[in-house]
Amino acid sequence: MTASSTHGSKADAGPTGELSNHSGRLVVVSNRAPVRMVREGARERIEPTVGGVGTTFFHLLEQRGGVWIAWPGGKTGRTRLPMPADDPRFALAFVDLSERDIANYYYGMCNRGLWPLMHYMVPNCHFDRVQWTYYERVNRLFAEAALAETSADDVLWVQDFHFGLVPGLVREQQPGMPIGLFWHVPFPPEQLFRIFPWRSQFLSGMLGSDLIGFHTRAYVNHFLTCCERILGLPVNRTRGEVLLGSRTVRVGSFPLGIDVKHFALVASSLKAQVRAQRIRRGLGSPFIVLGVDRLDYTKGVLERLLGFERFLEANPVYQKRVTLVLIAVPSRTKVAEYVALKRQLDELVGRIVGRFSTDGWVPIRYLHTQFGDSELVAYYRAADVALITPLRDGMNLVAKEYVASRLNDDGVLVLSEFAGAAEELTEALSVNPYDLDEIAIRIKQAIEMPAAERAERMKALRAKVSRNSLEHWSQSFLGALAPGMAAAPPAEETAAASA
Ligand code: UDP
Repeated sequence: MTASSTHGSKADAGPTGELSNHSGRLVVVSNRAPVRMVREGARERIEPTVGGVGTTFFHLLEQRGGVWIAWPGGKTGRTRLPMPADDPRFALAFVDLSERDIANYYYGMCNRGLWPLMHYMVPNCHFDRVQWTYYERVNRLFAEAALAETSADDVLWVQDFHFGLVPGLVREQQPGMPIGLFWHVPFPPEQLFRIFPWRSQFLSGMLGSDLIGFHTRAYVNHFLTCCERILGLPVNRTRGEVLLGSRTVRVGSFPLGIDVKHFALVASSLKAQVRAQRIRRGLGSPFIVLGVDRLDYTKGVLERLLGFERFLEANPVYQKRVTLVLIAVPSRTKVAEYVALKRQLDELVGRIVGRFSTDGWVPIRYLHTQFGDSELVAYYRAADVALITPLRDGMNLVAKEYVASRLNDDGVLVLSEFAGAAEELTEALSVNPYDLDEIAIRIKQAIEMPAAERAERMKALRAKVSRNSLEHWSQSFLGALAPGMAAAPPAEETAAASA
């Protein structure tokens, strides 16, 4: 039984504040809205951009009705948008942020304070009191928007570390409303979290929720320890509970999944197959190792390259025979640490390419771009090995997408033990990304793995990824938060889950 299903079943029998079957609407709060601005001459048009985890909110809101509250990512000149435009089923409500809000709350406290803190990257943490006041202010704006959009019958589902204070602020005004908070990033051990100057206020804000979800048991335990040691609250580790006196907050692991059917469909298309063959031919190496990440210092991209260099050094026989494809998606390009990382990466790629390249073979194909699904899946199909080496990652969906795209049960996943996905995907080859020799050894092991072992591991991985899909994730969380809110999962998914 997965951790998520354990916690899912608890919702019916919470010790206090029993959650009834809710028939109200769903209200989702997230930082970014599922839209983007497209400039057309002097005008800007709003276009939907649903993908990834947003798909599941979109479907839930379409089914149940409700509101999605978010920052549109720019000036829309609008406060609401009916969604979908041609057949409105729910509303998108925008919270307008000023330039100062964005600079201080988003680029400051979220990207340079909380992001590194949550990923255990202490030297990267910048804590600034002014930025914290903007974080409080923006959380208040979102809480006010949530209060304006909801009645006591509704269910509020808050997303991520951008809104740690929102549950507490809403709870003050709506004591009976079911409030869920899902944490899409890791949660650090108590000794690290302690460095945060506003640690008690932050934890108390999160505890305004009825249910807090993390990707893994480890993050749940870290959070419970913080509540116990920093706030001095009693916790029940077996049941996953923080006892507040008047209320009990449930805390559980709900590993995020992917839209497995979508990836299987794209991967099985003729277009993806033809494109994958072209990619292989174009690279001209018998073995392709693939790395895909947003260009972020948590992803271990430099360590991966150094490990690959060590592999080539230690195994000259594989020179001219293995190519590392590195897809690095531009990210947070206005933040100083990210600018520095890009420069370091460019230099390192240049050095390794210069050192090993020969006539007709280049050891690294470096693609600094963001691909759409079909091109990305073609790379997943083309790669013999996915080398996923984050130093710390909440979950890592790329690992799951690679697995879901390997329809023939081949390919090898090498996965950092510090990715949340490692708690589930135990049939991957595990690697410590700080150990460059181990990266080199795992690349060799993956390339040389016998076909039968590859198939056995990939089959087991594919079964897990199918079972813990994106839909399963949202149903488990909502089922635990407000049982009447989760729609019955489709028949095939129920069958897969019980298989
Ligand atoms: N991705 C994409 N285009 C690319 C590379 C990645 O759309 O060229 C997507 C990928 O499909 C995955 C997401 O980016 O869904 C990355 O998610 P992950 O959990 O691995 O890392 P995050 O960026 O959320 O930290």
